Amino acid sequence: MHNAGLASVGLAGWRYQLLPIPPELFDATVTALPGSRFRGINVTIPHKQTALALATDPAPRALAIGAANTLIFEDDGRIRADNTDAPGLVAALPSSPAGRTALVLGAGGSARAVVWALLDAGAREVRVWNRTPARARELCADLGGTPVPTAEPADLLVNCTSVGLRPSPEPFKPLPIDADDVTSYDCVVDLVYRDAETPLVQAARARRVPVVGGRELLVRQGVLSFEMFTRHEAPIEVMRRAAGAR
Ligand code: NAP
Repeated sequence: MHNAGLASVGLAGWRYQLLPIPPELFDATVTALPGSRFRGINVTIPHKQTALALATDPAPRALAIGAANTLIFEDDGRIRADNTDAPGLVAALPSSPAGRTALVLGAGGSARAVVWALLDAGAREVRVWNRTPARARELCADLGGTPVPTAEPADLLVNCTSVGLRPSPEPFKPLPIDADDVTSYDCVVDLVYRDAETPLVQAARARRVPVVGGRELLVRQGVLSFEMFTRHEAPIEVMRRAAGAR
């Protein structure tokens, strides 16, 4: 996705590459990267908190969420940190969440970004269900939102659990909803993506409920990171095609 975008905007000498780093080497490796002409990095599990702690200039939203997925290396040695998962979610929604209600499933790292983003965008109420209820309570104490023991209808449903990642004969069993319950929401968002459509996305499409899939969210956060790295407008359609989001 990024390499297709870089080629498309004419940044021929640029490359986006995978860099597996064990946690114990994260700080030493990342602080050496600007010297090797890296302009920035995306970070994923398990490095999102460490990346935030390493930054000299963390964005307020990354601090509020408690995680960064993007580090930018400035020429003067500063390291900026941001979280593009949060604005990426809002950008992917078919309409603004302002004044709307949402049910978020999950209370891990991605749920923190989603709850923060929805509340920041003016959502009227964000309810959070999690398999381990204590984590939902902790998330809501940190960020706002209301922990709930069951799924009630809302305008928006966002799956931030990893349920759906692997094929299962009973894909809805770990969740507080059934396939038919998707009609209780005006829009369904599934952060999970895999080669085939996830059961939640399939259920929503089959019932004509507007749906945003995980690959589109991947593209949206990637587009924002791309613009921070390169200061070029991201070619979103090129990146979408490369990511298989369309
Ligand atoms: P995480 O921090 O590890 O959180 C995992 C969440 O899933 C927790 O709420 C956990 O509940 C729940 N969970 C795991 N297995 C479950 C099960 N069998 N039944 C019910 N709940 C279960 O992970 P994350 O970073 O939030 O990511 C979650 C998913 O979103 C992953 O599949 C990831 O690939 C995807 N994701 C996609 C994007 C994108 O751009 N599309 C971005 C970020 C993440 P407990 O607290 O009870 O363990």
